[in-house]
Amino acid sequence: MPELPEVETIRRTLMPVLVGRTIADCVILLPKVLDNQEPAAFARAVSGRKIEDLTRRGKYLLFHLSGGRVLVVHLRMTGQLVYHPPEAQPGAPAKHTHAVFRLDDGATLHYVDPRRFGRLRIAPAPAQLEGLGPEPLDGTFSTAILRERLSRRRGRIKALLLDQGFLAGLGNIYADEALYRAGIHPERPADRLTAREVQALYHAIREVLAEAIRYRGTSIVNYVDGQGRPGEFQLRLNVYGRAGEPCPSCATPIARTRVANRGTYFCPRCQPRPD
Ligand SMILES: [Zn+2]
Repeated sequence: MPELPEVETIRRTLMPVLVGRTIADCVILLPKVLDNQEPAAFARAVSGRKIEDLTRRGKYLLFHLSGGRVLVVHLRMTGQLVYHPPEAQPGAPAKHTHAVFRLDDGATLHYVDPRRFGRLRIAPAPAQLEGLGPEPLDGTFSTAILRERLSRRRGRIKALLLDQGFLAGLGNIYADEALYRAGIHPERPADRLTAREVQALYHAIREVLAEAIRYRGTSIVNYVDGQGRPGEFQLRLNVYGRAGEPCPSCATPIARTRVANRGTYFCPRCQPRPD
């Protein structure tokens, strides 16, 4: 959390207000949020740079700055990027604000993170994000690619879906929701899925992510978009966080177990356990 749909929603809400603006300066209030730099060096590296584009890869946000540098933001568990327009500047930064970027028009972008696991990093362009798997909503990602990648992997399907090197962008919520839609038990061995199941999983992953973006993400812990608004997809979850509630399809109570050390929700009837 936040996963692909939340990061994509943040990107879409920040794009129109940030792209084309220049970062006037930056104050780091908690040096720990910087991956590999001292606060002064980081501030020097971003100040005076124009934000030329804002893209996403998996759960990472990439601010493409003039001069061939990229500010890579990984929100991890509770990171937020909140934009304050010039006419509505907060008197003092909210609690847990660890970085403040001031823009040339007087607006500010605040990095807020209660759990402090998120990280900011400056990388030379193109940013090095090695080791990430395919982008699930990309046009080049296909059932054939998913099938080929699954066939080479053992282990349980849920654990694999959480592995960013296998597929970029899914986390605990959307992995559970995709497996439910595909009718696949989270503990099924990845290399034993039938061709039909792989196809169902492929469509389930893409559909649930696209739908969650349409509803501007899932707000369960503290996720808000770039304008500080919560998402609405938490109202449309079928299994995640719903242990004991009836399955929307068959009314069997939703079960909760642990897979890959994460709380995992599924319907015992629609997603039969492997033999
Ligand atoms: Zn069911």
